[in-house]
Amino acid sequence: MREHAVILVRNWLWQSIDPGSFEAPGAISSFALAVSFRSVIVTSLAAFASLPLLYGLHILALPLAQMAKLIVAFSWLFAGTLSGTLAYVAGNVIRDLDCSRAEFQRLSQTDSLTGLANRRAFNDTLATVHGEASLAIIDIDRFKRINDRFGHQAGDEVIRTIAVVLGRVFGNTLLVSRLGGEEFGVILKGGTVEQRLAMLEQARQAVASDVNVFDDNKLAVTVSIGVAEFMPGRRVEGVYAAADRALYLAKDCGRDRLVHERNLPFVEAPAHEAGGLVRNSRVSMPRG
Ligand code: GH3
Ligand code: MG
Ligand code: MG
Repeated sequence: MREHAVILVRNWLWQSIDPGSFEAPGAISSFALAVSFRSVIVTSLAAFASLPLLYGLHILALPLAQMAKLIVAFSWLFAGTLSGTLAYVAGNVIRDLDCSRAEFQRLSQTDSLTGLANRRAFNDTLATVHGEASLAIIDIDRFKRINDRFGHQAGDEVIRTIAVVLGRVFGNTLLVSRLGGEEFGVILKGGTVEQRLAMLEQARQAVASDVNVFDDNKLAVTVSIGVAEFMPGRRVEGVYAAADRALYLAKDCGRDRLVHERNLPFVEAPAHEAGGLVRNSRVSMPRG
């Protein structure tokens, strides 16, 4: 019974000091008021509880009725205002810390050059993909030449512009991220493989037609894209490796193109086999 009462009081106090979220307007004031109100009640109860003892020991300076009034007045004056003020200050500090933490969280997931999700955010999302989805790695073609010819700043501008184009094509329903350097990663969910490939092809064409760098001549910037599929039982590393191999094939075939893993000459061995790569029976191999 006593334990039950202690738990009840503890819960009641905890509710008053649990800051919850301070985002809502007036939340800090309500929190301070709640803390103040509860501390007035607790100090008054404690003081009233000690009255019989003090009375029994004959050390009460005033008559009981006056002492009771004093207790109420001092509880409000000291316990109430002091705890309310401290709670108000603490509430503001907690809200500031919450804002900094949210900002830190956002920055740790964002690429500073483009504002897209960064590799960390990409990897976090990769680990949560279930069901049908495609993974695309998009790499700017001959980017080193752009840097060498137009300078590093122009290179940065090209990366930013391509990020805008990708954001425009894919919208914010899909994860588009900068994996690092001149490489982007996209996770596409929903629709059929063909529909997802059509969207990626649209992105490739949009870059080729909209992104240019200039000196005396105009230089169109292009990208190559490697695509692989998430499948039940397939590890994320396998999907990523297949998309990477498809990207290399796109580069080898002349760049400015999209290659799906089904066009790779070698594919992952089925899970029940020893692993590694086996010849892809869907692609006819060149003779010689
Ligand atoms: P490929 O078509 O085969 O992909 O050739 P590439 O020149 O694009 O690829 P490579 O890997 O040879 O060169 C990539 C260059 O990207 C080298 C590096 O200096 C440059 N780079 C990496 N990160 C940045 C960046 O943040 N800004 C700029 N301007 N350049 C970068
Ligand atoms: Mg490149
Ligand atoms: Mg690259």
